[in-house]
Amino acid sequence: MKILVINCGSSSIKYELVNLKKSEVIVRGIIEKIGIDVKSHEVGLEIILDRLMQPLKLSAVGHRVVHGGEKFSKAVLIDEKIIKSIRSHFELAPLHNPPNLMGIEAAKKLLPDIPQVAVFDTAFHQTMPSCAYLYALPYRFYEQYGIRRYGFHGTSHKYVALEASRILKKPLKKLKLITCHLGNGCSLAAIKDGKSIDTSMGFTPLEGLVMGTRCGDIDPAIVFYLMDKEGLDAEQISELLNKKSGLLGLSDISSDMRDILRAANKDNPRAKTTLELFIYRLKKYIGAYIAAMNGIDALIFTAGIGENAEIIRQRIKTGLSYLLKDARILVIPTNEELMIAQETAEIICK
Ligand code: ADP
Repeated sequence: MKILVINCGSSSIKYELVNLKKSEVIVRGIIEKIGIDVKSHEVGLEIILDRLMQPLKLSAVGHRVVHGGEKFSKAVLIDEKIIKSIRSHFELAPLHNPPNLMGIEAAKKLLPDIPQVAVFDTAFHQTMPSCAYLYALPYRFYEQYGIRRYGFHGTSHKYVALEASRILKKPLKKLKLITCHLGNGCSLAAIKDGKSIDTSMGFTPLEGLVMGTRCGDIDPAIVFYLMDKEGLDAEQISELLNKKSGLLGLSDISSDMRDILRAANKDNPRAKTTLELFIYRLKKYIGAYIAAMNGIDALIFTAGIGENAEIIRQRIKTGLSYLLKDARILVIPTNEELMIAQETAEIICK
């Protein structure tokens, strides 16, 4: 069974053709500069299908969709109703859902006879209890605007949790896991009895850990204080917190952890402070999630930083030696595309 997995950003389309029988990627690639060198997402997809040498026996296309709100707790077969629903979530993910939908519409047009499935980044975290997903704001904002914590990177957290259960030879339902997805965006999930019971990203991917350019948790009062002091409007403050903060803002060196580690190694004081803060916040979150689950069987690291930065894993191991004394520490490369392909297959085989 061959599944084409598509991840559409505003200016790029990442794709993978997956042979599910062998759980292997046949070909992967990226089309960049959409809107500059490539006219549209549709043209981008045409190039991809050319590269894949049509006619190709595709069983389905699996689309990554960032925000499914409260409506989607698992993958779904795309029809007009689903498209409407994805569109209704534009406001919740203005940077992601619109290009995701452009990809879906292009694929529907170019491959009208192939089933299309949407796999949502938020779906895995829909099992969180209300004490984890609600904010202590007037309740009507939750009811009126859906202001609550959703969490992201769900496909990645789910994939590495399933892999961990395979490696540990124990059913997921009997494990307490903390999965750390540390890439450009960073998030943790507390997974108890196979369910995500808490995760560090919230209403948007801005909450939680320190990330490449996102600030993670801050006192919300800083927002209006800075708006006043620097004369910033809502869009500018959002840009500041999303694109100019995190590792980049704090270090003034780079948003890339490799650059921070290199500079810290050369005793650059700002790089050292940035690294310390990153590790300290991560450590506190892991401790909090051990408390949330009343225990931990395994701590799992994944994504660019999680898979490669041995020094950070080591610091967590020693810094949390008491809490982690009975826990396995695993490094598991994430494979969101394979997870999307598997979920897509499950839907079309139903
Ligand atoms: P994305 O979230 O864009 O998929 P990745 O999972 O590729 O990102 O992670 C990117 C992050 O991983 C960057 O901060 C990068 O510096 C970091 N990274 C990649 N390789 C290494 C390495 N060898 N050591 C430390 N950090 C690394």
